[in-house]
Amino acid sequence: MDNNLLEKVVSLCKRRGFIFPGSEIYGGLRGTWDYGPLGTELKFNLKQSWWEYMVQDRENVFGMNASIMMNPKVWEASGHVASFTDPLVECKTCHERFRADKAEDIKEHEQTHAKKKEKVEWTEPKQFNILVEAKLGVVEGEKTTVFLRGEITQGVHVNFKNVLDSMRPKIPFGIAQIGKAFRNEITPRNFIFRSREFEQMEMQTYVKPNEKEAMGMFNEMKDLRMKWYLDLGIKKSKLRFREHAPDERAHYAQAAWDIEYETPWGWDEAEGIHHRGDWDLSRHSEFSGQDLSYFDSETNERFIPWVIETSGGVDRALLFFLLNAYYEEKDRLILKLHPKLAPYKAAVFPLLANKPQLIEKARRILKDLKRTGLNVAWDDRGNIGKRYYSQDEIGTPYCITVDFQTLEDDTVTVRDRDTAKQERLPIGELSKFIQKVLLLDN
Ligand SMILES: [Zn+2]
Repeated sequence: MDNNLLEKVVSLCKRRGFIFPGSEIYGGLRGTWDYGPLGTELKFNLKQSWWEYMVQDRENVFGMNASIMMNPKVWEASGHVASFTDPLVECKTCHERFRADKAEDIKEHEQTHAKKKEKVEWTEPKQFNILVEAKLGVVEGEKTTVFLRGEITQGVHVNFKNVLDSMRPKIPFGIAQIGKAFRNEITPRNFIFRSREFEQMEMQTYVKPNEKEAMGMFNEMKDLRMKWYLDLGIKKSKLRFREHAPDERAHYAQAAWDIEYETPWGWDEAEGIHHRGDWDLSRHSEFSGQDLSYFDSETNERFIPWVIETSGGVDRALLFFLLNAYYEEKDRLILKLHPKLAPYKAAVFPLLANKPQLIEKARRILKDLKRTGLNVAWDDRGNIGKRYYSQDEIGTPYCITVDFQTLEDDTVTVRDRDTAKQERLPIGELSKFIQKVLLLDN
């Protein structure tokens, strides 16, 4: 394992416009990151790929987009107000706080003091709620405290009845959502892996309340979610399932597994698959006084469905795709991103920047490719070799060069990012050639 891999990826992200430290010109804001031009494209592609895979390509699955700010009662019902807490200890010397259950962070902090020949004394662990508070309202003194959602899950469950009434789904059915969540993380770390503002992608599947149905769906979801990472190019050896130990599971969880990725800092969570039973809908039924049951017209039964959840982090998945794609060769750096994820699907170059016929021809190819829905880059700076390397670094799968032969026979050279091999293709075949590699075989 390359110990510097994370640093290299962080530095590439900054240098090439993927991800910047949040509020950087003001000295930053700990635990926040800003996505730059290429990072925004990559993140957009990642979310779109998840949405197609989980929602649009499957039957009986519906999308949702709930508010980030919700009625505070939501978080009482979900249990977050009472128990969304981390045990914290405070260093008595510098008053910095750490999670009591993160031994490596504590050791690291003790070492920084040890270097200055200081000994660290810790306070007893105290519970600290990690929901982020905000004040809502216009009149000072009459403002309501709301929470920025600590997870996106609840926005789906509180709309269960709305989706039932408007879409009339037949059980089993899924409701999906992608969106931001906020946590007052004590020790944000490992770049975008753990930050205070992050994005989640989740699927809540409602099933009949029996073990056979629930575990059938649970296993189907486990396989489907693993397959998504593999289909998008993560190496099989870098992924594994891990079952939660009984003491790690939320009290309502009947079964919980993680998909883990082997990061430079060890195996860590990519996403969780949880059997949540009827916890969510029962609690919201109780706290809201609304009937959140489902009527099964086939069996004439009325029941509270059980929930199988898949909950993944958009930012951490994005980090894993970057770590997985980073390659150094003798004379070049390549980001071997799946074409579906790559910010640009191709780049178009005129061989020489001072030949109007070449530029005109290349501009037309660029425009035609864009018109077929492909995000394509333009580069006419420096020599061709440098332009290739520049595109390799940001993961562009193909470089298309317009040369003098193009003016004669309407063919161009197409260079493959991973093999650096070139072939000649008719201009008319370019779009189809690129579209083909964007398909996922699910
Ligand atoms: Zn300290």
